[in-house]
Amino acid sequence: MAIDPNFEENREQVDTHEGHDVWGPVDEPEKLGIHGTHVAVDFDICIADGACVEDCPVDVFEWVDTPDHPESELKADPANESQCIDCMLCVDVCPVDAIDVDAGRAGRT
Ligand code: SF4
Repeated sequence: MAIDPNFEENREQVDTHEGHDVWGPVDEPEKLGIHGTHVAVDFDICIADGACVEDCPVDVFEWVDTPDHPESELKADPANESQCIDCMLCVDVCPVDAIDVDAGRAGRT
């Protein structure tokens, strides 16, 4: 299952984290929702492969600890989504299609 590119319509923004939005449902530690808006990462799909963290040319992603999540205990958090230059590398390299980037979606910062 890939990230829902229409999450803004299908989910509710329930929180903020490190300056970006969090889209529910969230029920920690098993369910963590989608982090980010311009650069959106579905934490419930992310397996901490790390390709996005390594390949992003402007270092948008930072690892966060997510203990006891069923997929992985680390997630690639779009902590610096406002720096994104829309190269789409992260979308292409993610092995589980957990990332959606849309230049038309404004992030919080
Ligand atoms: S689209 Fe490019 S610049 Fe934006 S977060 Fe992904 S890899 Fe980084």
